[in-house]
Amino acid sequence: MFKKILIANRGEIALRVQRACRELGIATVAVHSTADTDAMHVRLADESVCIGPPPGRDSYLKMPAVLSAALITGADAIHPGYGFLSENADFAEMVEAHNITFIGPSAAHIRMMGDKITAKTTMLKLGVPLVPGSDGELETLEEARAVAEKIKYPVLIKAAAGGGGRGMKVARNAGELEAAFREARAEAGAAFGNNAVYMEKYLDRPRHIELQILADSHGGVVHFGERDCSLQRRHQKLLEEAGSPAITAAQRDALGETVTKALKEIGYRNAGTLEFLYQDEQFSFIEMNTRLQVEHPVSEMISGMDLVHEQIRIAAGEPLGYTQDDIHLSGHAIECRITAEDPETFAPSPGLVETYHPPGGLGVRVDSALYAGYRVPPHYDSLVAKLITYGKTRDEAIARMRRALREFVISGIKTTIPLHERILENPEFRAGDYTIHWLEKFVALGG
Ligand code: ADP
Repeated sequence: MFKKILIANRGEIALRVQRACRELGIATVAVHSTADTDAMHVRLADESVCIGPPPGRDSYLKMPAVLSAALITGADAIHPGYGFLSENADFAEMVEAHNITFIGPSAAHIRMMGDKITAKTTMLKLGVPLVPGSDGELETLEEARAVAEKIKYPVLIKAAAGGGGRGMKVARNAGELEAAFREARAEAGAAFGNNAVYMEKYLDRPRHIELQILADSHGGVVHFGERDCSLQRRHQKLLEEAGSPAITAAQRDALGETVTKALKEIGYRNAGTLEFLYQDEQFSFIEMNTRLQVEHPVSEMISGMDLVHEQIRIAAGEPLGYTQDDIHLSGHAIECRITAEDPETFAPSPGLVETYHPPGGLGVRVDSALYAGYRVPPHYDSLVAKLITYGKTRDEAIARMRRALREFVISGIKTTIPLHERILENPEFRAGDYTIHWLEKFVALGG
């Protein structure tokens, strides 16, 4: 087992990983930018190293700085968290070349899934169903036109290197195709330095369903059921639940079987999530994330498993030590992503946190790095807290979430707590009756 792990991240996820390390008796090294000197992840780590100025590209994304911090502190592994370097195959390779373990999949698997076109062709070969679309990259408008005629409008142009909902454009009819194609390519080129795009049928009422998996380096692969992440704004998730109100146990088992078999075949290792769109009783694969996800706590709550413990054990070469039959999912969990934003206009709201009082009680979990007197810096992602509730039933999890949101006090900055309260009150949400387009309408109508 590792003796010291460097956590190449900040905020709640850096704390989340530190907690797992401490429970496993592993020392921790925090890295931070000059904007994060007073951050909780720095205060609670055993050691810390300043790796650069505030902008992410000069600190948390700067590979030589992170790697040097690991070398000078003698860390024997690096956990990348999510975002930043977590899906950077070059970084994983660089870390391993210095005899430090990257807690995640191999660089080859990160690369395979990081290119969404390769990810889709790989999954198709392994028998995983896809959204109808182009066979690969679309190089010309004429090619795009031909595919759109075949699969019928509306269609979606997506970036092969996509992430965070960028480089995605809808064309509702032939007249809109040229602009969508051009804009998606330009946005992809600017955001990812790669303007390759492909096409999918644009589904009008799907749910976003994803499956959490873990794989060891001895051929063991298991899944922890699905998460429903349909509540999104601008293709960004806001609230997630496990399980999905729309999926039966039989559907979960069948999808789980297809996915675990596919990942076993390619020899995948560590944690991963396969994302699907679900419409008309059909699952269609859209992408795989080769890392821990923001919403992993809801799967932990219904399975009783600590996914970060498991990631660390797997990276150290240990076998899972259990099979699918040993994983028992029970109850229901919900996560609200609380961001430092205006709950109506979504304008960023960094600044000084005056009061901080997190909720508590049975079935309530708060993953956050906030404290009273902390100044939320303007340079990073606006997520400041994840509020997770668990209940024996979905209704119980909802009732707990409503009372926990009411208890939660964060003053000095604006947060999205009031928006979550309105969602949780809504009869359609409470009935589990929503698709990926629901939240945009809800927000547009003033909640
Ligand atoms: P990213 O990596 O940028 O997050 P994804 O492929 O995961 O991109 O898609 C993000 C979100 O965009 C999905 O959760 C879904 O809401 C929407 N989306 C993606 N593909 C389609 C599609 N074919 N039809 C309708 N919506 C889609």
